Amino acid sequence: MKIGVVGGGAIGLYTAYEALKRGYEVDLYEARTRIGDSASGRMPGLLMAIDRPFHSFKNRLVMRGMKLHRELSREIGYEIRDVELVLPFDSPLLDRLMWIARLYMRYFGFNVEIVRGEELRRRYPEINSRFIGAVRMEGFGIVDPLDVLLTLQERITSMGGGIFLGYRVPPLHDKVINGVEYDAVVIAAGPHTRELSRNVDPKPPRQRFGKGIYAVTSLELDYILVKFRVTSWKYTRGYGFAPYYKGIGSVYGATFSWAPAKEDYDADYSLISQALEIGSDMVSEKPNIISVHCVPRVVNYPGGDWIIRIRRGFAMTYGISTPGFTAAPAIARYILDRLKP
Ligand SMILES: Cc1cc2nc3c(=O)[nH]c(=O)nc-3n(C[C@H](O)[C@H](O)[C@H](O)COP(=O)(O)OP(=O)(O)OC[C@H]3O[C@@H](n4cnc5c(N)ncnc54)[C@H](O)[C@@H]3O)c2cc1C
Repeated sequence: MKIGVVGGGAIGLYTAYEALKRGYEVDLYEARTRIGDSASGRMPGLLMAIDRPFHSFKNRLVMRGMKLHRELSREIGYEIRDVELVLPFDSPLLDRLMWIARLYMRYFGFNVEIVRGEELRRRYPEINSRFIGAVRMEGFGIVDPLDVLLTLQERITSMGGGIFLGYRVPPLHDKVINGVEYDAVVIAAGPHTRELSRNVDPKPPRQRFGKGIYAVTSLELDYILVKFRVTSWKYTRGYGFAPYYKGIGSVYGATFSWAPAKEDYDADYSLISQALEIGSDMVSEKPNIISVHCVPRVVNYPGGDWIIRIRRGFAMTYGISTPGFTAAPAIARYILDRLKP
């Protein structure tokens, strides 16, 4: 089988690699002139072991992706650094709620512990002293996303796969790309998948686009520090600090609106300061921003679940929002197990 892959993000690259391992011929087309410039290469690289909705199709892919990353890191040659996730709380009411969260996470097989008072200060001196406790969980990894993507790119090329950079695929009518006819085509173009598939998928999902920010900061942590802001706006969720793989910290957050799926967003400083404000509230020292990445995020609306549609030799990945990098190897296998010419 000869497969054309559109998009050189995590999903496109993992799909191309997996397809080559299965003995298929593969060409991958990427609009940008280098790999890693889009969402997959510009995020903090957290391998999230679980995501909401907990019993959804999305979460099954996330959990499977976590396991596959462990295997593939050895097979392809990238590193995963294991870290803890820390959710601090500052009121007795939250303390009680965290007990419920703890039971829930244990049900999913996590090692969960509640740390309070002096023990919290000793283990996590960076956390603001007004917090009375924190839930601590193991089982999270971080990767350098760019390193993963570039290693995959190298592997694909060495296995005989074609990678065409700087080639923007137009909306498809058939399985012909760049004059080459493919048996099957995978459209993994992030927020642009919808526009590329409009002639081959009569029922594309409704989607929200928004800005996802990721800022590298001067704060160094060995663990992921997260706070959830509960708002009526369903998609404004976690803000936090993550240990950036290369040693410095990162802060991340997002908003969603009916924005256009633009290729490049200007760094939106109101959004960054919002994320930084929520994040800074958790630590005793305010970190400085070193660099900021602002990329489009896409969510299927309503519901927020992921939609992977496979029809007549086309596979389309719609709305693969966070934690899509974690799930990417599982999504690749899901597609290739079902894709027929
Ligand atoms: C701020 C932020 C933080 C995140 N944090 C995490 C995290 O910590 N952990 C996690 O697991 N996930 C995270 N994510 C989500 C994750 O980055 C995405 O789910 C994942 O990268 C999606 O991969 P993709 O391959 O679908 O899309 P992308 O990485 O967007 O790749 C799509 C590619 O298609 C190319 N393309 C578009 N149009 C065309 C065309 N016409 N022709 C050819 N090529 C085209 C684009 O240039 C791009 O390279 C985060 C996302 C953001 C924005």
